[in-house]
Amino acid sequence: MTDVLTPVLTENWGTPGSWQLENYRSRGGYAAARKALTEMTAAQVISEVKDAGLRGRGGAGFPTGAKWSFIPRDSPKPTYLVVNCDESEPGTCKDMPLLMASPHTLLEGVIIASYAVNAHQAFIYVRGEVLHIVRRVRKAVEDARAAGFLGTDIFGSGYDLEVVVHAGAGAYICGEETALLDSLEGRRGQPRLRPPFPAVAGLYASPTVVNNAESISAVPAIIRHGAAWYQSMGTERSKGTTIYSLSGHVRNPGQFEAPLGITLRQILELSGGMRQGHHLKFFTPGGSSTPMLTPDYLDVPLDYESVAKSGSILGTKALQCFDETTSVVRTTLRWTEFYKHESCGKCTPCREGSWWLVQTLRNIEAGRGQEGDIEKMLDVCDNTSMKSFCTLADGFVAAITSAIKHFRPEFEAGYHTPAWELFPYEKSALF
Ligand code: NAD
Repeated sequence: MTDVLTPVLTENWGTPGSWQLENYRSRGGYAAARKALTEMTAAQVISEVKDAGLRGRGGAGFPTGAKWSFIPRDSPKPTYLVVNCDESEPGTCKDMPLLMASPHTLLEGVIIASYAVNAHQAFIYVRGEVLHIVRRVRKAVEDARAAGFLGTDIFGSGYDLEVVVHAGAGAYICGEETALLDSLEGRRGQPRLRPPFPAVAGLYASPTVVNNAESISAVPAIIRHGAAWYQSMGTERSKGTTIYSLSGHVRNPGQFEAPLGITLRQILELSGGMRQGHHLKFFTPGGSSTPMLTPDYLDVPLDYESVAKSGSILGTKALQCFDETTSVVRTTLRWTEFYKHESCGKCTPCREGSWWLVQTLRNIEAGRGQEGDIEKMLDVCDNTSMKSFCTLADGFVAAITSAIKHFRPEFEAGYHTPAWELFPYEKSALF
């Protein structure tokens, strides 16, 4: 396990004009795409990414090379690549700076990935609320096309590719890959039942690879430096570097790129720690949909396996840190209100479960909880998680069940005392 910050994706974030094509090219940009298209077969590209051990950075950690290899080579239908830049998980904020600072890294990854899966049309689906990023990615596509990196016969390889940048309309559910595909097709974004997975029947019922923005952005460096280089970073089964987003009651929130397996204690030490005079009470390893952990887990390597062994999920690596002034009940309520608002309503357990959980949490926050409320919430959670169309419900259930597991007395206090008396607002201000 390496314990230093390792900028690969973030290497040039501080360079003025890092998003411009000429700057990207002056640092060797698009050399990896040229190499892939002119010196490698599609199968070799897939093998390189598989050997590198790259896993999906959208949260699930599914092996990227394996996902690409599911695409049938002999399909009579076209194949599509769709990049998921609909980042919306509370606390998660790594893809947006990545697109803002280096959209050409993503585009170069799009060219290589599309070539690998034999797609001639790729879509970049960006959150609609972040208009400045939509514009920046569109500009990058225009510039890359003008330079001959998109369009026909790219690098004289005979390979053609067009890229469309699509702006979403601000629904959290559209980050779920099948809801995203519905939205791209022009319908209301709601999840589809899986299987079939998009690899079999995705966009327009055609074989489709859906990858997260960070996963695709990691591909150019892998092709450029080789699988062995990427493999040399990280832990046994969680390879490479990744971006950890640090937020909350910390001195220096921001993005920290490090090999997988760094610990939260190390990130806090490197970044200046918790705000002065306060200490960590709980944190999420990967956004609010991943079970919260306590300071007992500060030394857990932040890789897929170690976090799972600790009873949580690495997820999006959104490290939200809360100090002792924070009410766990209020935090859980805010998150659950978010998920209730964002539930698409297609399936009953998620739609109704989130509503009931918000009502109960509001009562507990107000000190109006009743004996049995905790058990009732756990029962609702049990009837919601793994019983819904997609993982949205699993997310809010994880927040509630982990909060009760670690801080049950705080919920019990809500049977008689309002959370704002125990944890006054002004003391938990972020600065
Ligand atoms: P998943 O494990 O069901 O699937 C992961 C990927 O692997 C998908 O692309 C899926 O199509 C593919 N896959 C899985 N099994 C397959 C198979 N047998 N054949 C072909 N392809 C297969 O996870 P998910 O529901 O896609 O995503 C859940 C994750 O999303 C959570 O871990 C959460 O952390 C994360 N998340 C991220 C955000 C964000 O803003 N980035 C928001 C909410 C949730």
